[in-house]
Amino acid sequence: MSRIGTAGFVNKSLKANELTAKKKYGQNFLIDQNILNHIVDAAEVTKKDAVIEIGPGLGSLTEVLCERAGFVLAYEIDPDLLKPLKENLIGFLNYKIIHQDILKANLLSDINLYLKEYENIYVVANLPYYITTPVILGLLSQNSRIKRYVMMMQLEVADRICGKPKTKEYNALSIMVQYKATATKVLKVPRTVFVPAPNVDSAVVRLDVYDTPPLKAKDEACFYEVLRVCFTQRRKTLYNNLILSYEKEFIHQMLMDLSIPPTVRAETLPVSEFIRISDYLTQNK
Ligand code: SAM
Repeated sequence: MSRIGTAGFVNKSLKANELTAKKKYGQNFLIDQNILNHIVDAAEVTKKDAVIEIGPGLGSLTEVLCERAGFVLAYEIDPDLLKPLKENLIGFLNYKIIHQDILKANLLSDINLYLKEYENIYVVANLPYYITTPVILGLLSQNSRIKRYVMMMQLEVADRICGKPKTKEYNALSIMVQYKATATKVLKVPRTVFVPAPNVDSAVVRLDVYDTPPLKAKDEACFYEVLRVCFTQRRKTLYNNLILSYEKEFIHQMLMDLSIPPTVRAETLPVSEFIRISDYLTQNK
């Protein structure tokens, strides 16, 4: 039975170690045992699986993960949390804490070193919100063996990641993520279940990475550049955004060849259309 994910425990653990939650590291500790269990349920973790956790904090999610997973590899940036974290996890032997900024970690080599024998590797985390986007895009672009991600994040970012064309949430982030994985919002989470409470509501998102992506750009770097250019100014048409980076005549011809009306806006196009644009550029530029 878990003890760590309660308000009393978090406050006591911080006080005992003369700590306060650090804003600069996005420290909002989860204190609702049902939500902790729900996150791990959503990841469908079993003893055969390994989990990578980003930001274990005081260990409330880590404890549930250690109970249910074969092994937990956790990255924590804050040196002050390492001692209480290890104390809180006493009794578990199936984890490794790496004191490192996740954005600087060499995940491929760590996976090889610690998780070699596991076929299924999942990321499960209550993310520090200030690095949600770089973490997700960084991990997805590494083409590592990670098959599934279940992550708590700011509600607004969750809506973008799961956004569908022709909605106000749909943007370059939606497309970058949905190019690599299916994205599902699992649970909306109120700010009251964190200590300290953040200024925004949150949501848990599950990403299932495609074994073989249904659509593949000929040149991924070009695909990401196309997304950047097409969404430069949301209120501009596709044509007007594209001519900021490419010659007018070329873009005019390209849109004619691809039968894409120049007046459309990027937010109305599905992932497949951006791949067509990217592949055209790869072949003709
Ligand atoms: N998992 C804990 C929980 O659910 O209560 C803490 C979650 S808290 C939202 C985010 C955690 O990520 C904190 O422990 C923070 O110190 C850690 N963190 C922040 N930036 C990080 C980074 N760049 N790399 C690794 N950990 C980071």
